[in-house]
Amino acid sequence: MIVLKEGYRKEKIIQLAFIPDRCDGCRSCERTCPESIVAVERFYGEFHVSIKEQKCRLCGTCVKMCRSFAIEMYQDGKPIKGSNQ
Ligand code: SF4
Ligand code: SF4
Repeated sequence: MIVLKEGYRKEKIIQLAFIPDRCDGCRSCERTCPESIVAVERFYGEFHVSIKEQKCRLCGTCVKMCRSFAIEMYQDGKPIKGSNQ
């Protein structure tokens, strides 16, 4: 798990994380991010997702749009409802 962004909402820690093993490179996250800050790249056959962290508003669109559950959102370390954890 790679933490892409960490922030606070109502005094709770919110994390946006990427789970590389689950990603199939569909680029749905890249296409649908309202801030256009997601990049999907391929290194040695494996997909990697990165974001421009400072511009991320933790809206959760990429989480919802990822059919592979490769992007997850956590609140105080627990998956937010809607993830497959
Ligand atoms: S949480 Fe929202 S702003 Fe941040 S990378 Fe995902 S879709 Fe973009
Ligand atoms: S939407 Fe999910 S599976 Fe598709 S490229 Fe993004 S992280 Fe990978």
